[in-house]
Amino acid sequence: MTDCIFCKIAQGIIPVTFVHQDEKVVAFKDLNPQAPIHVLVVSRVHIPALTVPEASDPKVLGAIFNVIRQLAVSLRLEHGFRVVANCGPEGGQSVPHLHFHLLGGRQMNWPPG
Ligand code: 5GP
Ligand code: ZN
Repeated sequence: MTDCIFCKIAQGIIPVTFVHQDEKVVAFKDLNPQAPIHVLVVSRVHIPALTVPEASDPKVLGAIFNVIRQLAVSLRLEHGFRVVANCGPEGGQSVPHLHFHLLGGRQMNWPPG
């Protein structure tokens, strides 16, 4: 999708430092981190949100969660971490391209804001 910021990042049009890249998934640090470690794990394919059927493609979700699990190890989050998917306006989603936040390095609180 030409106007999508995460498609542009995945295609290398907007430069970021990737912490992971493979044929299905890219991961990079959030521009506005909410924790000492705040990485976005993003599908390469443009899927607007968790509400659309393509978002439940087990190949895409499996690849994303495999990367999350690997990053939790490589980023030394053995004491715990949080995975967040904001969905739609009330969910606080600001970028309409499927992504999961991996947050760690501090005590997480509940309920979230
Ligand atoms: P959402 O609000 O959709 O759940 O998450 C979008 C996230 O993308 C936000 O946490 C925001 O800080 C991050 N973000 C938006 N634009 C950019 C960008 O150009 N580069 C990076 N690294 N992160 C971005
Ligand atoms: Zn996109």
